[in-house]
Amino acid sequence: MSTVTDSSTPHARPAVSAARAWAAQSPTSPLAPVSIDRREPLADDVVIDILYCGVCHSDLHQVRDEWGISAYPLVPGHEIVGRVSRVGAAVTKVTVGDIAAVGCLVDACLHCESCRDGLEQYCTVGGTQTYNSPDAILGGSTYGGYSERITVKEAFTLKVPAGLDLAATAPLLCAGITTYSPLRHWNVGPGQKVGIIGLGGLGHMGVKFARAFGAQVVLFTTSPAKVADGLRLGAHEVVVSSRPEEMAAHAGSFDFLLDAVSASHDINAYLMLLKRDGTLTLVGAPEQPMPVAAFPLIMGRRSFAGSGIGGIKETQEMLEFCAAHGITSDIEVIRIDQINDAYERMLRGDVRYRFVIDMASIAR
Ligand code: NAP
Ligand code: ZN
Repeated sequence: MSTVTDSSTPHARPAVSAARAWAAQSPTSPLAPVSIDRREPLADDVVIDILYCGVCHSDLHQVRDEWGISAYPLVPGHEIVGRVSRVGAAVTKVTVGDIAAVGCLVDACLHCESCRDGLEQYCTVGGTQTYNSPDAILGGSTYGGYSERITVKEAFTLKVPAGLDLAATAPLLCAGITTYSPLRHWNVGPGQKVGIIGLGGLGHMGVKFARAFGAQVVLFTTSPAKVADGLRLGAHEVVVSSRPEEMAAHAGSFDFLLDAVSASHDINAYLMLLKRDGTLTLVGAPEQPMPVAAFPLIMGRRSFAGSGIGGIKETQEMLEFCAAHGITSDIEVIRIDQINDAYERMLRGDVRYRFVIDMASIAR
């Protein structure tokens, strides 16, 4: 086990203690065990002993520096569920022993227009991501949930409603909120025809939420083997996108399309499926830019949009909605030492539909 040190430590660095984690040391190195510093709780901090951490395709993109923004060592993981083990003196939201969660954000300015609107993910000053973000408190980078423990500001801690399966709840913290938020923002509901593109971690949550919101749901997949699952998860119809006749049957018919694909694909083929004034919203974040032709947008006044995770208030609302409607993620639980193989399987589309790391395995 190697020890992570950093040289950019600010002066008033709080006390720290060592925590086990798994990190990538470069874009080409596999994840391996490291020891990281976690800060001792400040007055408004919560310490969470991590029980489960979901595996998002964004983890893989950043471990391999596919977005060109990665700092190493990189400890991924932003779908965190655990038990509160310590709290700072000013904390009121949770107490020791509570089950709590952390998603993609651990800080934001809380004063800008976006933060005041509860949209901390769009903080104009620049929020702090759970991992691979400059750590204003300790220096260096923030470290994510592939770890035994995390220290988080109370304001960025979520409460997990009773009754939810904890492992299957972890992916709600990113895959869940990233699909819930745009479906809410674009008012998806009864009387609308909605398409979800790509049946992965995000896509399968998109199908569940769009169905729960009362829309007519069509899933688009490149994988014929996922058709039956798509229907089981809540789609009224599944289209295999490589079959032109199946795509053509839906031309000009959708109110809203949510694109959750992790790699480059033909956006224009989907824009043509929108009705007049329809919107295609991208949540998938492929490495390469994708060409968008003018005429599919001009003809029919169609919109092409994007959406990023969701704010803290909406994430809490989403968790309550999931508890009330019995919604969680379909998961395969893995040990931390299976993570490198899990990335290869995720790239092959061989995950039904989210890997979740049982963090007890980090101590073995
Ligand atoms: P995932 O589980 O790997 O799912 C991606 C799905 O995309 C695959 O299951 C596959 O579905 C489809 N796909 C993969 N390669 C494809 C290709 N070459 N052509 C067409 N379809 C392809 O990934 P995820 O964790 O859901 O994440 C999806 C994307 O969202 C990633 O880029 C991730 O970084 C991004 N993301 C964005 C946000 C945000 O805030 N906007 C948040 C989290 C994640 P089928 O087999 O059904 O075709
Ligand atoms: Zn994610």
